[in-house]
Amino acid sequence: MKYKRQSIIFIAGVVGLLLVAGAFMTALLNEISQKMNQSANETLLNSTRMIESSLNHELQTDEQLLETFAGLYSKSREFQNPAEVLADFAASTQFYRFSYVDMTGSGFDSTGASVDASELPFEETALSAGAYGYSDAYMGSSGRLQITFQIPIYLDNRQIGALYADKTLTRYNESALFTFNGSSGHAYMVRSDNGSWMIEGAGTDADDVYQLLEKHGNHPDVQQALEKLMQEGKAGTIGIAFNGEPSRLCFLPMDNTYGWYLISIVSQSLLQQESSTIMQMIEITLIVLLVALILITILVLGRQSMKNQEKSRIYREQLFQTISANVDFAFLLFSPDKQRVELVSDNVRVLFDLDSIQVAEHPELLAERCGIPVSDEGWNAFFHGELHGNIRKEYQVGADNNLQRWIEVHLIPVETGQYLAVLHETTSEHHMRDDLAEALRQSQESNQAKTAFFSSVSHDLRTPMNGIVGMVAIAQSNLQNTAKVENCLAKIKVASDHLLSLINQILDMSRIESGKINLKREAVNLPELISGVLLLIKPELTKKGHTLQISSAVLEHDTVIGDTLHLQKILLNLLSNAVKYTPDDGEIQLNIQEQPVDDGRIEVVFQVADNGIGINPEFLSRIFTPFERAEDGRVSKIIGTGLGMAITKNIVDMMGGTIQVDSEVGHGSCFTVTLPFQLSEKQGYIAPDLKGRTVLVADDDPAICSGMRTMMEELGMQVDCVYSGQEAVDAAEQARLSGRIYYAVVIDWKMPGMDGIEAARQIRMNNPSQSPIILLSAYDWEEAEQEAIEAGIDGFLTKPIFRTELLRMLRCHMPDSPDAPRREMRSAVRSHHITGLRVLLAEDNALNREIAEEILRGSGIEVESVENGLMAVQQVERHDAGYYGMIFLDIHMPLVDGYTAAREIRELPEKGQVPIIAMTADTFDEDIQRCKAAGMDAHIAKPIDFSILFDTIRRFWKNEDGGHS
Ligand code: ADP
Repeated sequence: MKYKRQSIIFIAGVVGLLLVAGAFMTALLNEISQKMNQSANETLLNSTRMIESSLNHELQTDEQLLETFAGLYSKSREFQNPAEVLADFAASTQFYRFSYVDMTGSGFDSTGASVDASELPFEETALSAGAYGYSDAYMGSSGRLQITFQIPIYLDNRQIGALYADKTLTRYNESALFTFNGSSGHAYMVRSDNGSWMIEGAGTDADDVYQLLEKHGNHPDVQQALEKLMQEGKAGTIGIAFNGEPSRLCFLPMDNTYGWYLISIVSQSLLQQESSTIMQMIEITLIVLLVALILITILVLGRQSMKNQEKSRIYREQLFQTISANVDFAFLLFSPDKQRVELVSDNVRVLFDLDSIQVAEHPELLAERCGIPVSDEGWNAFFHGELHGNIRKEYQVGADNNLQRWIEVHLIPVETGQYLAVLHETTSEHHMRDDLAEALRQSQESNQAKTAFFSSVSHDLRTPMNGIVGMVAIAQSNLQNTAKVENCLAKIKVASDHLLSLINQILDMSRIESGKINLKREAVNLPELISGVLLLIKPELTKKGHTLQISSAVLEHDTVIGDTLHLQKILLNLLSNAVKYTPDDGEIQLNIQEQPVDDGRIEVVFQVADNGIGINPEFLSRIFTPFERAEDGRVSKIIGTGLGMAITKNIVDMMGGTIQVDSEVGHGSCFTVTLPFQLSEKQGYIAPDLKGRTVLVADDDPAICSGMRTMMEELGMQVDCVYSGQEAVDAAEQARLSGRIYYAVVIDWKMPGMDGIEAARQIRMNNPSQSPIILLSAYDWEEAEQEAIEAGIDGFLTKPIFRTELLRMLRCHMPDSPDAPRREMRSAVRSHHITGLRVLLAEDNALNREIAEEILRGSGIEVESVENGLMAVQQVERHDAGYYGMIFLDIHMPLVDGYTAAREIRELPEKGQVPIIAMTADTFDEDIQRCKAAGMDAHIAKPIDFSILFDTIRRFWKNEDGGHS
């Protein structure tokens, strides 16, 4: 567009220039032609003047001749007859007659005839006035125009007469005089008054010049103009027609008193012969210049248009290259008629590692790189100009799986007659297709697994339900047989527990999969968390007779930032699987290590190993896939959902950690979970000053001994390590005998030979007042608590040993410690019996209400129950403050739900302080948070775990003594 406008401007400029040049040239030519005409006129005028001057010269010559004759005559008439003298004169000159008159006016002529001065046919001046000269033209006796020269004749200074000489004007008509320009121009002498000929230079059929002009076809205006000019006595030229061609007529008055005019006529072409040649040359030059200018313009325009074309070609090429640089398509443009590659996109370098110039010269390189065979029909048709339609084909290059590439080639005949090849790598599409196929396969597998799972879940759900229904029926028909009823109840418990875990896991999994889980960032106390997990796993562990080895050095940090509940879930899943998939009397190991990452962050490695059935390598790759279980006869007998590992892996991933499994079929499995944690600023316990104290450590695990030694020595303490119960007894005895006092004895419970409790008993026996003895156990000290206390154990420390826990334990046994434990408190045997507590229970489901009432009443608690939140609030309002020691609220209830009821109770004056506990099947974290936000104190999940229920009651119920019941 821009170029078009430029061209238009340029053409307009050039046309303007041409017009100006044309106008200038025309003006110049006019000027030159005028000048030339002027000069031609001048020339004609000059030629005419020359004729005039020659004629004048002739007349003067004749005058002089007459003068000479006059002198001669006055002298010679004395010797010769005067008439003869005159006759001699006439014979020797062109005067055809001489005459002489004396002062009387009579005389004679050269022929001898007498002459009378008064009868002379011209104006006489010589005799009458003594003046000499020649007369006006007059018709002579010869019948021709003539003039007479006259001169006075003097003798001795006295005029004696006058001499006359007659001459016909035709005598002056010499062709040399009256023709010019190589005889092409003619001169005439005319009379100014009537234009009649005096001397007719060339024969004409006209009587006068005007007739001549008329004959030659001139307009009367021309004659009138000439007549007027001549009458005015002017000299000049006028344009006339003569002999059928434009000519010029020059009129020049003769230098005498008779009004004679000299006329000359010459054709314009002759006159301007020279100038027209110059004009022609100038015209030719100008035309050549014009043509040159036009040619230059065309050239420049052509060049400009070529430049523009080139520019737009470059622009298109750049555009093309820019586009191709940004797309994954390479292009090759081929002109089959010229057999030339016109264009190759630069991105062949990136896409095919080839240089575009190289490809333009050797397109076969591209074919080779794209796996196009030499014999490929389409490709050959492309380069042989035989492409008749679009061709699309895909080629494969590279044999190795990893290096395999697919290139899609489109060969397209373009409208311009050129061929376009478009090359595009489709490897990723292939991979994507493969991936999609794989994903489809996996999804189908997963669907199959889900279908299988659901059918197995429905089977699994029905199985315990069946059991429960059946057992209930058996129990009902055997109500008198307590043993049978008990047996039925025990089986119902097992079935319902399984049902519960199944439901929980399905819910967990669906929440994780739908991304509804947000990890909390709270302070996690690792010792508490681990002992909680161990406590939960203990019943199963004990039931199967497994031993649990906790091997770990002393852990430096006990409080990290994380999500307690989910961390607990990870450990629980791993440990419960280890317990489940290990045949009875197996060995489970838990190893916890801490690794510093940088300031403020650590990595904790949890390792759970068992010596159970193991996992075959084929299944290992699917172990974290939901609903997958090993296809193993032994596994199918074990209750499970195939969700635990998937849940675990998901949580580990969310926490930014890793999980790894090593397993050998028949030898056991080892799961290693590494999790990064930020350290909490509050780290348990500040180290007391225990410098210089000596502690005796007895553990068969050397790692624990050396870990304790390292840790305590850092605090300036000394450690004596022994590796069995007996050695501990011996060492203590040795010390006693040598008068040394151990600040404390830390003794492992489970040791080969003499166990820790027995060793403690013997140490105490030898020296009842010996330093405190701390029993080191894995998890289950509570079952031997009574025995241990009786044996003289002062404290219990669970593995893994955390530095802070150990220090707290040592510190609290310093004689001045405020933390010193009250032995009687520790020895109190826990029971679920609670006295003096009245609770309000709000539950809309009659069965659930009955269960809860039953359980609470069984522990000595007085229960009043209502069916909805509204009634609960009314009940509280009705009674005095303190009437209810605690309120249990279901959440989903008619009229007023649990949240609203809690809020309303909290707003009651004085009575609002009562502990309120939610008892609900809404068990997700956000449900717990909502309960707290509504003002409730605690949350107990349904179905109710009785130990949790009673723990919670104890937390909030204080009897009159102010202590826990
Ligand atoms: P399940 O509810 O079946 O235990 P999990 O997701 O916890 O589901 O485990 C998936 C499968 O992995 C199990 O069915 C079992 O085949 C295998 N597995 C998990 N842990 C162990 C282990 N410690 N020893 C042997 N096999 C295991």
